[in-house]
Amino acid sequence: DSFDQMNLHENLLRGIYAYGFEKPSAIQSKGIVPFTKGLDVIQQAQSGTGKTATFCAGILNNLDYNLNECQALVLAPTRELAQQIEKVMRALGDFLQVKCHACVGGTSVREDARILGAGVQVVVGTPGRVFDMLRRRYLRADNIKMFVLDEADEMLSRGFKDQIYDIFQLLPPKLQVGVFSATLPPEALEITRKFMNKPVRILV
Ligand code: AMP
Repeated sequence: DSFDQMNLHENLLRGIYAYGFEKPSAIQSKGIVPFTKGLDVIQQAQSGTGKTATFCAGILNNLDYNLNECQALVLAPTRELAQQIEKVMRALGDFLQVKCHACVGGTSVREDARILGAGVQVVVGTPGRVFDMLRRRYLRADNIKMFVLDEADEMLSRGFKDQIYDIFQLLPPKLQVGVFSATLPPEALEITRKFMNKPVRILV
């Protein structure tokens, strides 16, 4: 098993190796390729299995780097996790010069608006701030084609259900959705039924 066999963008491969990953973890072996093919994926995996790099690689491989607009949105349950994901995205996408931004509460809205206005390709954030940015149109949804919910079960148990649904309503109808979750409680299954199209389910 190797990252070389996944048909990934050359500069993404460089980023993966420069970051220090030599071989894909189990979830990466199973999950990166379906994501790069544009499929909706549900990945049931605990943290610590390498899920962050799975969706980061999937997103980074499929961005249009000539387009300076938000094309991928990742939601996470906490500010810290969102910022951590943004760092991994930036590191793996180093040779692609990806423009990404963490949109989280507790930071300046004006600063967020300024950065978003200058153009970013990937936004990673918490549901509250992301919804706020979309609603105020600082974050434009027209070109978003990939949407990832990380730790979906955790987001739901923190009461973010309504905000997640509100965000879905503001995103384009033709959307690739990835759901990452350690468990799939009824509320998470409801999201997969309502918003996903023939999802591939991967269990690690
Ligand atoms: P995650 O489940 O995404 O939080 O990742 C857990 C830890 O595993 C992080 O410290 C990653 O940097 C590390 N990791 C993920 N994928 C790989 C890999 N393919 N090779 C080595 N370490 C990895």
